[in-house]
Amino acid sequence: MHFGTTMPVKAIELTQNRKLGFLSATYASQATCPPTCPLRNAGCYAETGRMSLHTKRLNESDVTDPVEVARLEAEAIEKLSGRFPLRLHVVGDSPTAECARLVSAAADKHTKKKGQPVYTYTHAHDVPREAWGGVSVLRSCEKLDQVRKALDDGYGAAMVVPEFQSDKAYPIADDLVGIPCPEMTGKAASCEACGLCMKADKLREGRKVILFAAHGSRKKMVTNNLQAAN
Ligand code: SF4
Repeated sequence: MHFGTTMPVKAIELTQNRKLGFLSATYASQATCPPTCPLRNAGCYAETGRMSLHTKRLNESDVTDPVEVARLEAEAIEKLSGRFPLRLHVVGDSPTAECARLVSAAADKHTKKKGQPVYTYTHAHDVPREAWGGVSVLRSCEKLDQVRKALDDGYGAAMVVPEFQSDKAYPIADDLVGIPCPEMTGKAASCEACGLCMKADKLREGRKVILFAAHGSRKKMVTNNLQAAN
């Protein structure tokens, strides 16, 4: 099959991303993002700064069918050495169970190579947890009810908040504890050093939710869009 010159996905053996640290990572075009994501074209961090250049390039691909993108992503993952933990979808997502199964099968092979974890976030709220296999998955939520449903569905959960109320973990509801992302609060140098999101099952068991603070030029836009979603 001819896919044109621009690929809709790439897998990097060792990312240059300072927040991530020494990790492998995949990037997929926004054709794979669920249309329901309230931050798409509305404050998603992949649309800002240097990331926006990568995102724009991926979005230029002729391949826009999420299943085809997932197949290409799986092929790209299988070419990685497996030496590093793998972050899926620095941009992009697996919007359906079929896509998640294709990508997670490759992710599980990645883990089998050297025992390294694979983790990601998803804005898809109707993909069964089993489709993700052994991947540590945090569902990205905008509302507390979505967080509770994510936990009930077997996922970990993450939320973007306008700002942190504390640098330490704090209750965000009677039954939920928020953990401000340690990389954002300066308590961890990188995701590689922190690793919390690589343990979604443990977070879920403790009803702990990873919080990200919107900041800089995104803050107002994200806050407005999250308020609209609520
Ligand atoms: S909580 Fe840890 S692993 Fe998750 S995004 Fe923040 S630094 Fe990375």
